[in-house]
Amino acid sequence: MICERIASIQSELPDGVTLVAVTKTHPVATCSETVACGQLDLGENRVQELVEKATALGPDVRWHQIGHLQTNKVKAIAPFVHLIHAVDSERLLAEINKQAEKVGRVQDVLLQVHIAQEEHKFGWQPEALQPALDGGLLERFPHVRARGLMGMATFTDDAAQVAEEFRGLRRLFETSGGWNVLSMGMSGDWRIAVEAGSTMIRVGSSIYGARS
Ligand SMILES: *Cc1c(COP(=O)(O)O)cnc(C)c1O
Repeated sequence: MICERIASIQSELPDGVTLVAVTKTHPVATCSETVACGQLDLGENRVQELVEKATALGPDVRWHQIGHLQTNKVKAIAPFVHLIHAVDSERLLAEINKQAEKVGRVQDVLLQVHIAQEEHKFGWQPEALQPALDGGLLERFPHVRARGLMGMATFTDDAAQVAEEFRGLRRLFETSGGWNVLSMGMSGDWRIAVEAGSTMIRVGSSIYGARS
């Protein structure tokens, strides 16, 4: 069942769009089953769960830390995490830089941009991002490599609004330059995100069913 659902999503994705299968809350066995389908990009939003699963599954999996990340949790994933999606502050960048340096890595990250109407979602305001970059935000952190942007649209049935938010993020991605990963789209809105130019979708419940 899992393999069929993954294959069905993969078959709809244009070339150059990566699926991250979001395995959060599901057991290690589900992750193993996913990997056995050839799906090697897995996403988690809790560090402890990510570390436990990574230990169990071995080195083939590309682990994506997709949710809000606290600075005191960076150290645990720094030796191996493939991509940190939701970098939302300079403080977090500084901590990732420090921990990556300690383990001799350059850590790939995405900068999270706040594109939704809801107040509670994290990230840089779209209009604050370019000034921060111009101010040397990334140059200060040689052990961090920003690969692109990540965003979450408003949780709404209004597809036009969601599309507009994703298109806005795509424009920012294009103008801020030199980037190649744009992480946007979840179970409810990944088709809209892909249409708007996403290069990486993060899908959980459409593959594994609703989380309890
Ligand atoms: C849980 C989660 C997802 C996947 O959500 P689904 O709606 O189950 O596809 C994607 N991105 C982030 C940041 C998440 O926390």
